Amino acid sequence: MNSEKMFNNTKIAFSLKSDSQLERAYFLFKMISNQPLVRIGTAATRFAINAKLPVEGLIRATVFDHFCGGISEEDCLPAIDKMYSAGVCSVLDYSVEGKALENQFDSAQARLLKIIEFSEKKEAMPIAVFKPTGLGRFALFEKKSEGKAFTEDEQAEWNRIEDRFDTICGLAKTKDVEVLIDAEESWMQDAADDLIEKMMAKYNTDVPYVYNTLQTYRWDRLDYLKTSHNKAKENGYKLGFKIVRGAYMEKERERAQEKGYDSPICTDKNTTDINFNDCQNYILENLDQISVFIGTHNEDSTYLALKQMVNLNIDKKDNRVWFGQLYGMSDHISFNLAKNGYNVAKYLPFGPVKDVMPYLIRRAEENTSVAGQTSRELELIKKERKRRKTN
Ligand SMILES: Cc1cc2nc3c(=O)[nH]c(=O)nc-3n(C[C@H](O)[C@H](O)[C@H](O)COP(=O)(O)OP(=O)(O)OC[C@H]3O[C@@H](n4cnc5c(N)ncnc54)[C@H](O)[C@@H]3O)c2cc1C
Repeated sequence: MNSEKMFNNTKIAFSLKSDSQLERAYFLFKMISNQPLVRIGTAATRFAINAKLPVEGLIRATVFDHFCGGISEEDCLPAIDKMYSAGVCSVLDYSVEGKALENQFDSAQARLLKIIEFSEKKEAMPIAVFKPTGLGRFALFEKKSEGKAFTEDEQAEWNRIEDRFDTICGLAKTKDVEVLIDAEESWMQDAADDLIEKMMAKYNTDVPYVYNTLQTYRWDRLDYLKTSHNKAKENGYKLGFKIVRGAYMEKERERAQEKGYDSPICTDKNTTDINFNDCQNYILENLDQISVFIGTHNEDSTYLALKQMVNLNIDKKDNRVWFGQLYGMSDHISFNLAKNGYNVAKYLPFGPVKDVMPYLIRRAEENTSVAGQTSRELELIKKERKRRKTN
């Protein structure tokens, strides 16, 4: 099979979608391809939710159901089973953001422990995920990253964050479930990186259970990867990395400009792409010590990884290499990779509708049309509609 053509197969990509589900996806992506509509829709939705207007039903029937598995873990089961029937695993992602209270962090931890327990019994869910700021206050991560001294209370609060990380990573190892830790804004990330490194040193002694995330839109990440590799070799533990391009580019650039420091983001898209591919190659060449979860919707990087795997004689099912996309996006990559025998898992977000709105808004904005071009998702759906009509 010519792997360069693998992702063109829309029949496999949309095989789990009935005609009516495909029509719904077409309608949705057509709507969100319109930039002014998304801008107005986003503002109106934020207002309606804050004003407690009854819009949840409308959101559920449109964007929510396309990009999320449901409100609870149980709601996600049909999607998990359906995807697994096509060889694609699920990573349950509790996508609630911006919480700041201790009891919210404790309940996020309890939820994760429950997911890990559940994953142990379910082959379709070999991997768990969390965001550092889902388990502790953003401001505390930020203060630690700046190297500022904590007050006694802050130190106690930080110790609780460390305990939460430790409990989750410890259970993941006991239950043989890998755990991915998302990367967020650069000004809180150093503290998260140090803490995750500590977890890797403790739990990745034989197998990498704990994975950090490299955002390759940051120009310093290849060096960070190499430094982490040297440290891990010296201290005798394995590394796990999810590699992504990065989701906070505008925010990063705006803050750097506002505060007058050099932007941590690559100067252009091409530099980010090169950095992503370099990190990917470096890891694939060092698979004995570093495992990878390749989180991307970019076809070229994915084809490149497949080519590298052939060159380096890496088996398609090698458990040290996983590919991942987001639920509701790039099914042409996920389902074709799985069909061809690779390890694939999709992030399956869930949570109360109003709490996952920031996540949904990011997805809508990502799929609006750029300079009049149809978004790729819409293009693929159109292609599959046409194929079904002519068959
Ligand atoms: C499974 C999975 C997990 C993820 N986890 C995280 C996470 O933990 N943290 C996180 O931040 N994001 C995460 N993301 C989102 C990811 O970072 C990207 O925003 C998204 O996947 C789009 O990038 P791409 O590689 O898929 O595709 P592409 O469409 O090829 O790349 C788009 C990306 O390129 C970069 N870019 C675009 N224009 C420029 C420019 N002018 N200059 C420099 N760079 C540019 C940006 O990062 C942009 O998002 C995840 C994505 C997936 C699929």
